[in-house]
Amino acid sequence: MTETIFSKIINRELPADIVYEDDQVLAFRDISPQAPVHVLVIPKLEIATANDIRPDQAELVGKMVLAAQKIALDEGIAEDGYRLVMNCNRHGCQEVFHLHLHLIGGRQLRGISAG
Ligand code: 5GP
Repeated sequence: MTETIFSKIINRELPADIVYEDDQVLAFRDISPQAPVHVLVIPKLEIATANDIRPDQAELVGKMVLAAQKIALDEGIAEDGYRLVMNCNRHGCQEVFHLHLHLIGGRQLRGISAG
């Protein structure tokens, strides 16, 4: 897999506002937030897209979701709610080809429409 900007954040070659880290998962604030809370949760392992997740990586993806759950609590948005989004490839508008979950909240979000 080609190295992405997120690998550089994992390796501390690029700065990021890190809000969570364990041995397998890292989370940091999106550089262009779409809501008061907009955090990207990524695996330290390089996986390009949702299409590339292997069955033996199911636990890792679960850990990403649990990290998002914890961050939502820490950020004080768990009760009101939030959105977890994973974009895939062109039609999903994926821009960075290192798997990531967007954790978005802190305001009333619009419903997901056709667009
Ligand atoms: P995608 O469209 O691939 O699902 O989302 C990629 C996200 O990464 C975008 O929301 C974009 O703002 C964010 N992003 C791109 N480059 C950087 C960066 O260098 N630092 C941080 N913190 N976020 C980035």
